[in-house]
Amino acid sequence: MARTGTALSISFVLMAVCGLAVIAQTPTVDWQRQRAETLKHYRALLQIDTSNPPGNETRAVEYLRNVLEAEGIPTQTFALDPKRANLVARLKGNGSKRPLLILAHTDVVGVQREKWPVDPFGAVLKDGYIWGRGSRDDKPNLVANLMVMLLLKRSGVALDRDVIFLAESGEEADVTGVGINFMVAQHFADIDAEFSITEGGGGRLDGERVSTINVGTAEKVPARVRLVATGQSGHGSVPRLDNPLIHLSAAIEKLGRWEPPMRFNATTKLYFERLAATVPPETAAIYKGLDDPQRAPASLRYLAEKDPQRYSMLRTSIVPTMLKAGVGPNVIPSEAEATLDIRALPDEDIKTFYDEMNRVIGDPAVKIVPLPPTRPPSPASRLDTEMYRTLEQVSKGMYPTATVLPTMSTGSSDMAQLRAKGIQSYGIGPAVSVEDENYGAHSDVERLLESSLYRFVEFTWNVVNAASAHR
Ligand SMILES: [Zn+2]
Repeated sequence: MARTGTALSISFVLMAVCGLAVIAQTPTVDWQRQRAETLKHYRALLQIDTSNPPGNETRAVEYLRNVLEAEGIPTQTFALDPKRANLVARLKGNGSKRPLLILAHTDVVGVQREKWPVDPFGAVLKDGYIWGRGSRDDKPNLVANLMVMLLLKRSGVALDRDVIFLAESGEEADVTGVGINFMVAQHFADIDAEFSITEGGGGRLDGERVSTINVGTAEKVPARVRLVATGQSGHGSVPRLDNPLIHLSAAIEKLGRWEPPMRFNATTKLYFERLAATVPPETAAIYKGLDDPQRAPASLRYLAEKDPQRYSMLRTSIVPTMLKAGVGPNVIPSEAEATLDIRALPDEDIKTFYDEMNRVIGDPAVKIVPLPPTRPPSPASRLDTEMYRTLEQVSKGMYPTATVLPTMSTGSSDMAQLRAKGIQSYGIGPAVSVEDENYGAHSDVERLLESSLYRFVEFTWNVVNAASAHR
């Protein structure tokens, strides 16, 4: 593989820290010159159709392996399913700090081609955007991590810690456990790290300016259940008090109206505090009111009505999503069931929470049956780590007027598996505008502003360097 100009030099900066002279190697990069190479790899990766199912992520792995190995970076592939491989590459540090894992998933969600104005796997450049499935989720992170590995290798910068690159399969739906579950269960030693950075954050663009930067530090834990009501079956012409549909409906109604207790954690506390400083006074008063027992009910009512996403960040949530009952219009069934999508706060004791739900339902004919967990419980990542501080510093360095918001996702990601193993994990991503929200992850059409891609590669590079380069 031809190698474009490296455009790298190492500048040695002499710093006096606490009376000690410290040599910090700060490789400087000519970002203008990295654009063509970044775009080439990004477009090539978008053009590889890794729709999951079926995935076929091995084709992306082959591309990445060729690029890395041409640069002299050895790679390893790990595959539970040969078509759905994961790739690991490691740049060695001196071991004075534990490794940093930079990971991204190679699979994308499927497409409905008729919804696309361009070929979803064409990586078309139009109106300043790059269009394509995966252009937001998750190929910006994938190409940023790739570029960081190439630039680290070319710069020859000495590292205090190993930097581990992971391109993982099956993030979007890992029903057969080919991706992070396989890597954690079978090859954890190859990816074990102090910190990881991956998707799950991003910036907000207001015109040219980045106004906020979200760093993903926590996520809710899926804890879905079936709600099963049982009674005596019978003829539809004879009303029965134990009709399971009546009992099930009443239980759903009670849970739907129940407001589980609100609770901040370190992430959401700081999130709402900082958010309040970025919005008009009326909205700020709503966020600040959350912390005041007198004003909290009004604030919560506002969020429940107008801002359900943020409402969900404050409590374990229960959302009925499916109903199943009955075999015919004249038959009382002996069973009726609902599925509840429960998303628990990271510190929730879920058994106690189910007990509380039982108390709310107050009906022995209705049972809560937990579904098999899809993610392990994962504690929030800390805000007092070197990596979190680095993410804040780099954000401030690149975007001095931006507000950095530690964020708890109401969804879940592969960080859950990593956090459950003790890796402090943080979500990052490129900056997008309000209009771009219609072109985000899993939307009918995805696109990313070309300039945001380049800034994000630079951001990722700055973070990895600040956290890993030898001091
Ligand atoms: Zn993703």
